[in-house]
Amino acid sequence: MKSSFLVLSFILAGNVALAQYNPEKPDLRQGRFYTEEQAAKVHQDLAQNYSDKKSWEKRAALIRQGILEGSEFNLLKVPKASNVTIHSKKEFNGYSVENVSFQSLNGIYVTGNLYRPIQTGKKMAGVLCPHGHGQDPRLKEYTQQRCATLARMGAVVFAYDMIGMGDMKQCDHKIPKAVKLQLANSTAALNFLLSQPDIDKERIGMTGESGGGTQTFLLAAIDNRIKVSVPVVMVSAYFFGGCICESGMPIHKRPTHETTNVEIAALAAPRPMLLVSDGGDWTKNTPNLEYPYIKRIYSFYGAEDKLENVHLPDEKHDYGISKRLAAYEFLARHLKLEINKVKVNGKIDESINAVLSPAQLQVFDAGHPLPADALKGDDAVTKLLN
Ligand SMILES: [Zn+2]
Repeated sequence: MKSSFLVLSFILAGNVALAQYNPEKPDLRQGRFYTEEQAAKVHQDLAQNYSDKKSWEKRAALIRQGILEGSEFNLLKVPKASNVTIHSKKEFNGYSVENVSFQSLNGIYVTGNLYRPIQTGKKMAGVLCPHGHGQDPRLKEYTQQRCATLARMGAVVFAYDMIGMGDMKQCDHKIPKAVKLQLANSTAALNFLLSQPDIDKERIGMTGESGGGTQTFLLAAIDNRIKVSVPVVMVSAYFFGGCICESGMPIHKRPTHETTNVEIAALAAPRPMLLVSDGGDWTKNTPNLEYPYIKRIYSFYGAEDKLENVHLPDEKHDYGISKRLAAYEFLARHLKLEINKVKVNGKIDESINAVLSPAQLQVFDAGHPLPADALKGDDAVTKLLN
């Protein structure tokens, strides 16, 4: 039989995502790997593997190990945040913004913005904010609004670039081991956040949309220092992530087992998690499938109340205002943030936030160049990851 690379492409929210089945890489589960009907049946079958906390935790350990091995994360030294540079502090109404870089792996620099509440003298929660695919989304208004609002609520917030985006231009986005590098960068970003003054290590959250949702549930799955998570418009029974940075390494299919992003997201149990879903993408079935599926797993811990779903049937694939409002309420409740500080007449008001220019948020500039030991180019970065 003549088999070749089958590529289905579709346009979503302005981004091109590829769904692919590659017979030459049978251990990858990418894009719309299942039909919706297949996904429902697959999850009926998966549910048979566990019926209580003990049997789930056995399965959870297998899936977690599969992520670590499939992404080759287990072969890495634990990524630290070293050679930290923080500069260009800008102060606004209740918070500040700084531009940040630090080294994760040797010669790799994570880049982003640190939003901090004006010092309160109290211990503060922290929130990691990865972003989805697009043109430098860290710099976009919707990301700035999310980070600024959370900072005004009392959280130290770190928004960081996907590889190949924003200031992280040491390599292209679509390098073969993008899953590995982004997981390493997320871990280093968490270490960076935890190293900030007056951080309460018991109140660490993470939220991102789309590909940033994937980064959120992957890090929450392998690192229980993430105490609260809000993956937005991503957890799907039939869609595995359309980009090489989400599903380009064999984290879903291992010699021992096969899993889905629903089971991976469930590894957050019993820590609080909010699934934000909508009617316009692969999260459209969440109230009927993904949410009750994961809820059952939370019930093994008596923690059904720690999992929530906000479903917006008339909305599309983004991290727009209504999705942010849902995330703010949930994060405020579970991270003990001061939501009243951002309310005007009882409603959350983002209009006070400053929207900065790309130049104001830029990490590397004439006065703060990319460090000399930074790797440059896909070949150099890929060699490091091999
Ligand atoms: Zn990607």
